[in-house]
Amino acid sequence: MAIALPLLDRFGRRHTKLRVSVTDRCNLRCRYCMPAEGIPVAPRDELLTFEEIERVVRIAASVGVTQVRLTGGEPLVRKGLEVLVAKLARLPGVEDLALSTNAVLLDEHAESLRAAGLKRVNISLDALDPTVFKELTRRDDYQRVVAGIAAARRVGFDPIKVNVVSLRGVTESEVVPFGCFARDTGLEVRFIEYMPLDASSAWERGRVLFAADIRRALEESIQPLVPVTEPTGSPATEYTFADGVGRIGFIPTVSQPFCASCDRFRLTADGKLRSCLFSLDEVDLREPLRSGASDEVIEERVEELIRQAIRDKGPGHEINTDHFVQPLRTMSSIGG
Ligand code: SF4
Repeated sequence: MAIALPLLDRFGRRHTKLRVSVTDRCNLRCRYCMPAEGIPVAPRDELLTFEEIERVVRIAASVGVTQVRLTGGEPLVRKGLEVLVAKLARLPGVEDLALSTNAVLLDEHAESLRAAGLKRVNISLDALDPTVFKELTRRDDYQRVVAGIAAARRVGFDPIKVNVVSLRGVTESEVVPFGCFARDTGLEVRFIEYMPLDASSAWERGRVLFAADIRRALEESIQPLVPVTEPTGSPATEYTFADGVGRIGFIPTVSQPFCASCDRFRLTADGKLRSCLFSLDEVDLREPLRSGASDEVIEERVEELIRQAIRDKGPGHEINTDHFVQPLRTMSSIGG
């Protein structure tokens, strides 16, 4: 059998991670992401079916993708997600199948997701103070998130990472509590710099709480952070507190872009491939998937389009330049 060539771009980066958005709907309204009234969502018939997603992932896995992460919007608002998880978990080549969720619905789904073959969950949670949580998300769901985290632990997901978007002027007071949370629970807390992918285009550099500031606050209030030396396969730079208790990661997308080692690309819920989070163009897979051609023709075409998207990928985002252009798609319709 012929061995497929890896997905290499012009800069020699090998792409092994695919993030699959299953919906652009969300049950929260985080202020840095969406307006209170939400944003227009794709009609149902424009979303890829589970069978279409399975097909794309199978083709991607045949050309070297080994890690797949389901994202949204909020992926658990898509009905029957467990059915998709079961389909993807048995695909040859998919070694790691993970989910990014806000955990509001996780309590109800953790057990069935685990049984379906999901390996890991990352939980988005930006505040531990219920009042700040409600203010940020415009929803009173803090206790449901707490129940979701407890359910994830109970059914044995490991590791569980908690992703925290930090906003200057809003969530400084959450930094040290999150450090203590990492120490108390053993869950890794990862601070993510706020990125310009919001629906209101309200992002400003002055609103980013930078990784260096967060690190300083943690070290001053808790204790020094020591770099983790073993490779983690994650874009986060990871640390433990000096006494070995509590793991902290930083994803400094704005202050220290890690594009030079990027190994990921994205499939949106409506079937577009995006080679970079900040791409201004995308490659449509839905049309060839629904063309009615033979399986062989469709699969050859989809593989070709995946290769083309990776080949044409740019070197990285340009947030730190004065010619940066924010993509029209927002975080909730790309999948983070
Ligand atoms: S901005 Fe684009 S190139 Fe940079 S790490 Fe993110 S997806 Fe990769």
